[in-house]
Amino acid sequence: TLTTRFAPSPTGYLHVGGARTALYSWLYAQKNGGDFILRIEDTDIERSTQASVDAIMDGMNWLNLPWTHGPYYQTQRFDRYKEAIEQLLATGHAYRCYCSAEEVEAMRAEAKAKGEIEKYNGFWRDRTDYPADQPYVIRFKNPLDGEVVIKDMVKGDITISNEQLDDLIIARSDGTPTYNLTVVVDDWDMKVTHVVRGDDHVSNTPKQINILKALGATVPEYAHIPMILGDDGKRLSKRHGAVGVMQYRDDGYLPEALLNYLVRLGWSHGDQEIFSREEMIELFDLKDCNRAPSGFNTEKLIWVNQHYMKTLEPSYVASHLEWHMKDQGINIANGPALEEIVKVQADRVKTLKEMAQISRYFYEDFTELDAGAVKKHLRPVVKEPLLLVKAKFAALTDWSPAPIHAAINDTATELEVGMGKVGMPLRVAATGGGNSPSLDITLALLDQQKVLDRIDQAIE
Ligand code: GLU
Repeated sequence: TLTTRFAPSPTGYLHVGGARTALYSWLYAQKNGGDFILRIEDTDIERSTQASVDAIMDGMNWLNLPWTHGPYYQTQRFDRYKEAIEQLLATGHAYRCYCSAEEVEAMRAEAKAKGEIEKYNGFWRDRTDYPADQPYVIRFKNPLDGEVVIKDMVKGDITISNEQLDDLIIARSDGTPTYNLTVVVDDWDMKVTHVVRGDDHVSNTPKQINILKALGATVPEYAHIPMILGDDGKRLSKRHGAVGVMQYRDDGYLPEALLNYLVRLGWSHGDQEIFSREEMIELFDLKDCNRAPSGFNTEKLIWVNQHYMKTLEPSYVASHLEWHMKDQGINIANGPALEEIVKVQADRVKTLKEMAQISRYFYEDFTELDAGAVKKHLRPVVKEPLLLVKAKFAALTDWSPAPIHAAINDTATELEVGMGKVGMPLRVAATGGGNSPSLDITLALLDQQKVLDRIDQAIE
């Protein structure tokens, strides 16, 4: 089975770059009816936390990127890594090295002085006269000549000569395995066929390929995804604002929007911008990923978000809006169904957070009216139109947009003024401010008695 994996180190949130890697891995597995593994690379005990593991899984769940296997934790696989290290020692692909860190440092300095490649000089590579009771690390016996070719699905062939590569440490003096060893053993054991990851790992890949070969494992295919840049052209980081996926939820984006934005950030299919999940799965291919880094563009993310707020089922969008209502402490028990809010507000806002912010008056009474709107539309006092329209409203037996509209219209006609002279003060009275969806619809969504009370409040 085609198998991909997402292998985050749990040292923080699921950030945008990680989410995109997870998405591409997931998509490629989905497309090919394959498996998608979640592997937690938590061997850096100092920096790894359970809170981060939870945050990563929360992010993947929110984006709806379900893994079929795992999560596997590297810290639970130390016995297996030990076994692999023993195998490499037994087959002559690894050796004990008793050099101190200072000695290795000196070797590198010496090589540098001679204009050679800075690396360990292989002092212990072929020796067996081991000193007793001395600490040692275990090094991989990297081939001395020949070359390694990474057949990268995104970047094309990358060739590295073995001469460039060091005999890297695979076990520290305390016996714990190092990063390149654990990744290799896991990819092998978990039968990973396609390694999709950020191109910051390209330099590790030839080392990993050599270890895989030494273990007798099949070398997977690789796809290294170029990095994401912030609007200043530098690598995307916390400095650029929200980078944790859940921060985008908090900021009011739909998961569909972020996912669609991320799939396009580094991959394209003609000039198509909007992709349903099914289309992404059908059309995505690793070999069509961009070779150049992509720039994160919040304006475009907003545009995609607006598209989804307007086009997804209102009841579905409402389920996400509900989170924001709660987050902002708006009690939605008394007021219109949230999907009605989505229908009237979706094309008026950039985010769900904003939608919640501007919809408070549907659910909560207020005592303060927006000062600017009052000055413009309610002062000097506009009692007459408000009293007249109120009387007409009070008489309505059908509280719906058409009769509400007629009542406003009749009031304006009787007073020989424009609709706005009635509508605007009414809007300020009913909503507390000068902005709202179409007035008849807004008032219809509000309870009849509530509107009458708010008119009274405004002309007091
Ligand atoms: N744990 C590595 C990281 O978070 C990823 C390793 C890999 O994908 O091979 O950068």
